[in-house]
Amino acid sequence: MKNEQCPVCGKKTVQKHGDVTFPTKSGKVTVSDLTYQECTSCKEKVFSQYAQEQIERTVYGEKRKRVV
Ligand SMILES: [Zn+2]
Repeated sequence: MKNEQCPVCGKKTVQKHGDVTFPTKSGKVTVSDLTYQECTSCKEKVFSQYAQEQIERTVYGEKRKRVV
């Protein structure tokens, strides 16, 4: 697997796995079981296209469901 570089500061990123919480207009949404790259320097998270699809599905799904 190739080393990804942080798009913000250009430092090395490491692969992480777990829950990530995103702030949205309708509140915080947690996407669980996500694999992503995190910068070792500035902690910027870099998501693959697959991860982005997971995020979008979860975020938009939560909006439609309107969990109170
Ligand atoms: Zn960085």
